[in-house]
Amino acid sequence: MFRLTHYMRELIAPTPLTPVRKPQAPVVIWNLIRRCNLTCKHCYTTSADIDFPGELTTPEIFTVMDDLKAFKVPVLILSGGEPLLHPDIFAISRRAKDMGFYVALSSNGTKITEHTIDEIAALNYQYVGVSLDGIKDTHDTFRRQAGAFDAALRGIRLCLEQGIKVGIRFTLTQDNYQDFPALLGLMDAYAIDKFYLSHLNYGGRGNKNRGDDAHFQMTREVMDLLFETCYLWLREGKEREFVTGNNDADAVYFLHWVARRFPSQTAPIQAKLQQWGGNASGVNVANIDNVGNVHPDTFWWHYSLGNVKQRPFSAIWPDVSEPLMAGLKQTPRPLQGRCGVCHYQKICNGNTRVRAAQTTGNVWAEDPGCYLTEAEISLPDQFFAASETC
Ligand code: SF4
Repeated sequence: MFRLTHYMRELIAPTPLTPVRKPQAPVVIWNLIRRCNLTCKHCYTTSADIDFPGELTTPEIFTVMDDLKAFKVPVLILSGGEPLLHPDIFAISRRAKDMGFYVALSSNGTKITEHTIDEIAALNYQYVGVSLDGIKDTHDTFRRQAGAFDAALRGIRLCLEQGIKVGIRFTLTQDNYQDFPALLGLMDAYAIDKFYLSHLNYGGRGNKNRGDDAHFQMTREVMDLLFETCYLWLREGKEREFVTGNNDADAVYFLHWVARRFPSQTAPIQAKLQQWGGNASGVNVANIDNVGNVHPDTFWWHYSLGNVKQRPFSAIWPDVSEPLMAGLKQTPRPLQGRCGVCHYQKICNGNTRVRAAQTTGNVWAEDPGCYLTEAEISLPDQFFAASETC
C-alpha cells in the first residue's frame, strides 16, 4: 500500500531521513465470512448471500486472535464477504479492541444503518472503509443491486456523524474510471477522511508497448489527478488521506511527478520511497481467509501457506521452507524481465507477484500490470535532466 499523502506532506514540509524500525509482524486482513448481500463484478472472494462451509467458528477466531496478539500483529482489518453479516462481528470486534489491536472494518456500507450505527460507534473502530465503484448507476451496476449506492452513502454519512474515521475504497477499472473525478468531488463535499484507490489486478498484454495501452493511459490519467488533488488539498489545509493499493509502481510514477513538478525534491523523496520499500505481500501484509487458510495477501486465495486450524499463524508466517514465502521475504526478490532490470526496484519491490504468476505461470516474471514506460524504469539521470528543463 502506497501512502501518497505521507509523501506529499514530505514535499510540502520535508523532514530528515531517520532510521525506521521494521514491523515485527504483518498487518492481517481477515476475511471473517464469505457471505455477502451483494455480488460485485470484481469481488476477489466470489462471495454470495449463502453460508459457506468450513468457516472458522467464533471460538476458533478467538484462538487465532490470541496467537496473532502473541506474535505481535498490530492491525486487524476485518473484512468479508460483508463482515457485518457475521453473527458475532461485534463480539469479535470488541475482543480485538480490548486486546489492543488497531481494528478496521472493511464493508460494502449497506449494513451500516440507523439500527447498527450505535453499536458500530460504541466499538470505536479506528477506521471504517466503504467500497464505492462510482457514482449512483455505475456503483449499482457494479454491485448488481439497485439502491446499493444510496445505502453505502448512508453508511458513510452515519459514520461521519458519529465521528468515525471513514474512507472510500475505489477499485479502478476501464468501466468506472470516468467516475473518479466525481468521487473526489463527493469526498470533498462530505469531508470524507480517506480515499483508497485499488488497482484491478489487470494482466495487460505481454510485450505490448505500454505507451499505447488504453488501460495504462487511463491509469496514468487517474494517478495524475490523484497527485494534483492530494497536493492541492494539502496546500488548502484539508486533512485528507490518499492511499493506493495493488500497484506499487504508483510510487515510482509519483517520483517522476515530483521530478517534473519539484525537481529539487527528487532525491530526498526518492530516499524516503526507498526506505518504504514497495510491495510487502508475504512480509508486512498477510491474509487469513474465511476457512482459516493463510495467504501472502488477499489476491492469493488459490494458494494456501497453511491453515490456522492445523498450525498457528505464528508458525506458518515465518516458515521460509515454503518456496513462495522464501522468495517474497528475500531482499532483493528474485525478479526477472523488466522488473529484474528496473532501476526503481528498491522503491517498487517488483509490484504484484500474483499478477505475474497468473499471466505467465512464473511468480518472478515481470509484473504485466506495470504501467510505466521503458524510459520511466531506466535512465534516471537523463529522465530527470529532461524533466528539469521542460
Ligand atoms: S518494472 Fe517492475 S519493479 Fe519496476 S516499477 Fe514496474 S513493476 Fe515495479
